[in-house]
Amino acid sequence: MNCPVCKSPLSEEPTAYKCTQCGFRAWRAVAGNMIPEEDMQTLLETGRTGIIDGFYTRKGNRYFSAALEVKDGRVSFLFPPKDGESKRREDRREPDSVQNRMRVESAQSGTVFVSISGILGKRFMIDFGLVPARLAECYGVITGLRLLLHEVSARQRPELVVSANNREFAEYALREHTPKRAEVRIAIEQMWSLLDKWGPWKVMHEQRRRASLKGGVSVGKFPWGIFPWLEADVSDYNGKVIVELPDCLAARAQFAASLRTARFNGQAFLLPAAAKPVVHAWVRSVRGERGEAKKDAADARPS
Ligand SMILES: [Zn+2]
Repeated sequence: MNCPVCKSPLSEEPTAYKCTQCGFRAWRAVAGNMIPEEDMQTLLETGRTGIIDGFYTRKGNRYFSAALEVKDGRVSFLFPPKDGESKRREDRREPDSVQNRMRVESAQSGTVFVSISGILGKRFMIDFGLVPARLAECYGVITGLRLLLHEVSARQRPELVVSANNREFAEYALREHTPKRAEVRIAIEQMWSLLDKWGPWKVMHEQRRRASLKGGVSVGKFPWGIFPWLEADVSDYNGKVIVELPDCLAARAQFAASLRTARFNGQAFLLPAAAKPVVHAWVRSVRGERGEAKKDAADARPS
């Protein structure tokens, strides 16, 4: 695939297509909406897409449809010609009460795209290792929910609409089917208890063409700021490092996916002693902490 601006080869990354020559980039997610791969290809090849549904404006608090085009070296919205009547009809189709939304879309091999819009705007890709799509999407929702519960005070929690790409996951979440695998059942239950903690919620199944995210999340780089609430207990035992993480299936799965030498014994993770600095680096990264030296000094204070 070549850059639509300067025709140099594009680099395909988990979150965007990037041109290393002219700096052009096309994000895979625009205004809370994962752009279907087919539309992305059309955009890069022809400089323009057809109308795409499902963009969300926080400011206007509504969904909208638009085409995308490459203009002045960047991707911009291209709106259909103004037609007062059809515009108003479209607004009516998406009720104003839909304002707080979490979209989860699993890609290959346990990688999930999570996009939160409304009361909190966040989007990230997260790798949960070798888990099926239905479980990865559940872990994605758990991650998003913990983030929401951490960031949004109990007084200001409007209804949360969770939009899932995976049909099985949506059916489990809606109690239409019970998962056979205990692992999935436990994850769904953990998710329900977080949803109930949040307040009013609903889950929808909205399937879109799955984006072909090749290679998953860039290897060797830990996700940043997705578990700001996480407390880890790291200690040494018999030449091993023991890591105790909170009872959050998503955080544990992400840890195991990031640190391949980690072995879970039912309660804690065991790793070779040499992995200790990497464990600390993971904790700092997922908590969203910068300034590593300072943090380590604080940890070393006498108790
Ligand atoms: Zn270029």
